[in-house]
Amino acid sequence: MKIRFWGTRGGIAVPGPDTLKYGGNTACVEVCCGPHRIILDAGTGLRPLGDALIASGAAVDADVLFSHLHLDHIIGLGFFAPLYRAETVLRLHAGNMSQKALRQALSTSLSPPLMPDLLGAARAGVSMQAFKAGASLTLHPGLVVATAALNHPGGVIGYRIMWNGKSVVYVTDTEHTPGHPDPNVALLAKGADVLIYDASFTDAELPSRTGFGHSTWQEGVRVAEVAGAGRLVPFHHSSARRDRDLDVIVAAAEQARPGTIAACEGLTLTV
Ligand SMILES: [Zn+2]
Ligand SMILES: [Zn+2]
Repeated sequence: MKIRFWGTRGGIAVPGPDTLKYGGNTACVEVCCGPHRIILDAGTGLRPLGDALIASGAAVDADVLFSHLHLDHIIGLGFFAPLYRAETVLRLHAGNMSQKALRQALSTSLSPPLMPDLLGAARAGVSMQAFKAGASLTLHPGLVVATAALNHPGGVIGYRIMWNGKSVVYVTDTEHTPGHPDPNVALLAKGADVLIYDASFTDAELPSRTGFGHSTWQEGVRVAEVAGAGRLVPFHHSSARRDRDLDVIVAAAEQARPGTIAACEGLTLTV
């Protein structure tokens, strides 16, 4: 499996000289399992991914798994160039909502008055699929994705992608209860090769951010230990953090759990 990070931020895109190292785009992670392409969330990082796919010349066929539909996780969809190509096939998946609600939310965000009618202009074959949290999704023979409900305002889904004996877990936009590792996260991440985890805050910041629906890098370390997971990848960096702020956090996380590597735009991991 090949993982590539195209957007690592939460909240809002933060381009500029202070975010060159970790990146300024919002959530978008590409996971290629042999010939199959999965895209986790469609934040602003989806735009450069789309451009790279067009440049590669290959027709795009992908499953897009939404953690949830907050804007930082969907805003890139209208700027995904393959959406306007007839040869593109996209299967959009979202959990704990109806197919109708998914379609309505996406078409609202991609139509007047919020945008021009981008979904109407799309030429790709787009299907939308809804599932119940906890469902197991077989995207292709041998490519199975386990799902779980996590803790975020309006709900959020965590994913475990399993292919060829390897597994990658994507847990973002979720709040933990201090002192109690979330059993859903621990189960999803059990023995996983890679755990991508919401590290929006630090433990010191969390008491003043209760109810925001986010976690900390320290909790990522704890839950990775409980789950016996492999590499921890802190993700969904706060838009307030500059590169030098993240350098301090990343150094502490690496010390706490050797092998930890922070998500940054362009980072590629192979498992
Ligand atoms: Zn988010
Ligand atoms: Zn959110």
